[in-house]
Amino acid sequence: MRIEILKCLQDNYSYLIIDETNKNACVVDPGESIPIINFVENNNIKLKYILNTHHHYDHIGGNLELKEKYGSKIVAFKDDKSRIPEIDVLVQNNQIWKAGNFEAKIYHTPGHTNGHIVFYFFNEKKIFTGDTLFSLGCGRIFEGTYKEMFDSLNKIKKLPKETKIYCGHEYTLQNSNFCIQQDPKNSKLKDKIIKIKNKLENGLPTLPTILSEEIECNIFLKANNIETFSKLRDLKDNF
Ligand code: ZN
Ligand code: FE
Repeated sequence: MRIEILKCLQDNYSYLIIDETNKNACVVDPGESIPIINFVENNNIKLKYILNTHHHYDHIGGNLELKEKYGSKIVAFKDDKSRIPEIDVLVQNNQIWKAGNFEAKIYHTPGHTNGHIVFYFFNEKKIFTGDTLFSLGCGRIFEGTYKEMFDSLNKIKKLPKETKIYCGHEYTLQNSNFCIQQDPKNSKLKDKIIKIKNKLENGLPTLPTILSEEIECNIFLKANNIETFSKLRDLKDNF
């Protein structure tokens, strides 16, 4: 499985998961259709599935144009069927979604929105986390509770340490400023910030990140109780 990172809108990332044996692909969170269409056309990809982590427009904005053009099937959380139009495949917590060679476990991760899910491709150890987990940060809590978000992050934290994490936005540098303010002596974080700046200076995405690094550097994953986590989330909202 090959992953292509496609920039959408201001700072969103959409991801193409390509099965190289047959050029079938899934797209995760197409915030707009044009960058996806360009890549698909130039590379003779067959866009079979659209996977949505949550209903926000910057994650589903390209859905219907892609569905219309390629006949792709939309895969999304069952409880969001009233706010993500034209879902074809409804999925739920802990379900394994399988289609051809694509196989992912779905985790319901409420907090940012009530219906947020993440897609864990366990054979490849890659996870698509939308706006639940960012590199060095986590999503704002819009609809859920602090406890829900904390529990959602802990589900991801339990996955294998070498899991590669593909997030919904390029927020890494801003997030790093908050982490280093809260955790100024963390030498692993300092090393990671150097790598992040290097990538950005070269016009490269800072993603994917690796779970082991996030556990050591992401202040929201380092929080081991709900009180600490909630306080950090409040501080970050006003950072
Ligand atoms: Zn969102
Ligand atoms: Fe978003």
